[in-house]
Amino acid sequence: MSLEFHDLFSLKAMNTLGFDAVAERFVQIQSPGEVEELHAELKRSGDPLLLIGGGSNLVLAAQIPGIVAQLTIRGCEIETMDQDLVRVTLGGGENWHATVSSLLDQGIYGLENLALIPGNVGAAPVQNIGAYGVEVKDRIEAVEVYDWQEERVYWLDNQACEFGYRDSRFKREGGRYLILRVSFLLSRTPATVTTYAPLNTELSPNEQKDPRAVYRTVCRTRRDKLPDPEQIGNAGSFFKNPVVSQADYERLKAAYPGLVAYPDRAGFKLAAGWLIDHCGWKGRQMGNVGVHDRQALVLVNLGGGDRGQLERLAGAIQADVRETYGVELEPEPKFYP
Ligand SMILES: Cc1cc2nc3c(=O)[nH]c(=O)nc-3n(C[C@H](O)[C@H](O)[C@H](O)COP(=O)(O)OP(=O)(O)OC[C@H]3O[C@@H](n4cnc5c(N)ncnc54)[C@H](O)[C@@H]3O)c2cc1C
Repeated sequence: MSLEFHDLFSLKAMNTLGFDAVAERFVQIQSPGEVEELHAELKRSGDPLLLIGGGSNLVLAAQIPGIVAQLTIRGCEIETMDQDLVRVTLGGGENWHATVSSLLDQGIYGLENLALIPGNVGAAPVQNIGAYGVEVKDRIEAVEVYDWQEERVYWLDNQACEFGYRDSRFKREGGRYLILRVSFLLSRTPATVTTYAPLNTELSPNEQKDPRAVYRTVCRTRRDKLPDPEQIGNAGSFFKNPVVSQADYERLKAAYPGLVAYPDRAGFKLAAGWLIDHCGWKGRQMGNVGVHDRQALVLVNLGGGDRGQLERLAGAIQADVRETYGVELEPEPKFYP
């Protein structure tokens, strides 16, 4: 067996919340062949498995039983389909933001709104990452998986991935698939999406057509608004924006005229950050964790925080929002175990 397992491996530097978490065993997977080896070892040991990418959407307990495996499969194949259309197939272990930047530098467009989202390519389809009016599902052609049930590698096309808002079959059927590679359909002709502020408010009409201007504005805005996990531990937006019916939206809007909401396929998507902020949580601390002082949707580790403390803080916020607005907040990151 070529896999190299590390016992009692610290994941502190591998989760952006910066929690002290120790994996019973840790291994890196560099090829589909090694996935099969890992599968054999899982069957032999009966260990549970956690797949980890950049650890930017995970809330880890102090002790992680079984095996934690990180996919490090690299690679970027670019195939020209016609004058405009480009198929880009990326290894799941590639860093997301570095890939977005590199493609832009090569004049390949379509991912610029998703710049600076932390993590790896392999995790991007799991919660269908999205920002500034674009979701990764809008650009994914297919996802190559290892299916632990069927014990084989195959491609799922976009529809078979059953993408939803911060959701996919990979999330719902957690544990069935390991994502090896992702193929994207991108373009050499700019076709920017600038429906969201500040892209439609800060950029001139000409700049709005320029993917590089969109990229720069997204990066600058994210740096201004979101705390850098290198400076202060966090997992990005901690709660999904709740979707409510038209009737509930109208009831809330009448009671709270300042409510921030966007029309959505199923009704209205409420800005969770607004709800939390208006319950007075921005900047508040509970033990060693707290709510960021500039962005109420981001919960932070102030140093020495742990999962228990974060769960208590998140629970208190959920209870407050439920009592005030009658709205349920659902956490976005995965709690493990
Ligand atoms: C500062 C900050 C800003 C963020 N902004 C955004 C944003 O704008 N939009 C957004 O959508 N998200 C955002 N996120 C969340 C996060 O960056 C994304 O969800 C990202 O895709 C997670 O990637 P990761 O590699 O870190 O995954 P991890 O956190 O390591 O894992 C996330 C999930 O994916 C699973 N997984 C990981 N790799 C694989 C694989 N190869 N195959 C199958 N399953 C796998 C894990 O088991 C886990 O369930 C933000 C996070 C931070 C810290």
